Amino acid sequence: MRRFDAVVVGGGLVGAAIAWGMQRRGARVALLDEGDLAYRASRGNFGLVWVQSKGLGAPHYQRWTRASAAEWPALNEELGRLSGRDCGLSQPGGVHLCLSEREFEDRAARMARMKEEAGNHGYEYRMLRRGELDGMLPGLGPDVVGASWTPYDGHANSLNLLHALHIAFEGAGGAYVPGAKLLDAACAPRDFRLRTTAGDVAAPRAVLAAGLGNRELAPLFGLDAPVRPQKGQVLVTERARHALDLPTTSVRQTPEGTLLLGDSQEEAGFDLSQAADVMAMIADRAVRSFPWIAGLNIVRAWSALRVMAPDGLPIYDESERYPGAFTANCHSGVTLAGAHAHLLAPMLLGQGLDPMLAGFSARRFAADRRAA
Ligand SMILES: Cc1cc2nc3c(=O)[nH]c(=O)nc-3n(C[C@H](O)[C@H](O)[C@H](O)COP(=O)(O)OP(=O)(O)OC[C@H]3O[C@@H](n4cnc5c(N)ncnc54)[C@H](O)[C@@H]3O)c2cc1C
Repeated sequence: MRRFDAVVVGGGLVGAAIAWGMQRRGARVALLDEGDLAYRASRGNFGLVWVQSKGLGAPHYQRWTRASAAEWPALNEELGRLSGRDCGLSQPGGVHLCLSEREFEDRAARMARMKEEAGNHGYEYRMLRRGELDGMLPGLGPDVVGASWTPYDGHANSLNLLHALHIAFEGAGGAYVPGAKLLDAACAPRDFRLRTTAGDVAAPRAVLAAGLGNRELAPLFGLDAPVRPQKGQVLVTERARHALDLPTTSVRQTPEGTLLLGDSQEEAGFDLSQAADVMAMIADRAVRSFPWIAGLNIVRAWSALRVMAPDGLPIYDESERYPGAFTANCHSGVTLAGAHAHLLAPMLLGQGLDPMLAGFSARRFAADRRAA
């Protein structure tokens, strides 16, 4: 039995960021990953480091997201230096385009409410009318009436991020174990023995970051992770000359020139099939936003499954029955990578979850479950 200070289950963006965050603080960490047959949101996302629409009615989520976006530059620099991979972070601010007056009014109301809920923490945003937007984003279509803007938003190369986290983790002595599906666990407070398809490991801390796999694994550790799949489809165009300095919620241009067009939100269970009508809807909104996109070929398209809690917020918990066992789940693992590596990992190694994360416990769903 191999022994570690902590074992992290799941080598996607959430698990890799947490494992790296613990390893860089000197812990001996094992990172177990099931492998290519598992659902992997981390390989099919849109790559936004996005703040502006996060946490309406849940200011603690807005604060956590902001904190993560603020950690990203240090994470980007550190991972670039240690791994030789450029995570491609760009945080010039971002816009959400509105394609009708109705959308503009709804968005303005939403942003005003977010600012009000932010209280003394503050929330900087502006609603921009068309004239002002034209100076920021060239080639907008006639349907665009305006947009919301915040300075916090950005985007990154999320595949490079995943790769860089793994390289940095292993470079610092972390034990990455691919093909290690967690099958069973013998749990006692601060004493976990995990049986996997690649052998057994033991540690006083176990962190479940297995994405959609957490739902099944969490009860083994006295935890609850009621996450469900939510499908998203993404289209990628051929390379175009650089045109977009700012990412938008549904169109962003990579440094290489490709445009990513996204992304649907479909409740289809574990069905990963792509659908022409959904792709047409995504393309239609992109072309209404920027008509010149119609002249570009689509060179790639994919679908992937988000890891979604019932209320769309992350779930972070420590087991009451088996202290030392944690779960981490979210549908914004790119955005939250900074917080997971720099803020959450030290908590898991230290005194446990900070009270500021109490609102993310799965206990918030208990009343709904009793009622159901
Ligand atoms: C279409 C789409 C667009 C998105 N856009 C964005 C975006 O713009 N910005 C953003 O911040 N986020 C975005 N996301 C969300 C982001 O990709 C996810 O939040 C993130 O990837 C979740 O990472 P994860 O590590 O929790 O899960 P996953 O990537 O699914 O990884 C889970 C890992 O756990 C492993 N595993 C599962 N079961 C077991 C087991 N029993 N034993 C061992 N290992 C196991 C699997 O092998 C897998 O590697 C998007 C997601 C989708 C689908």
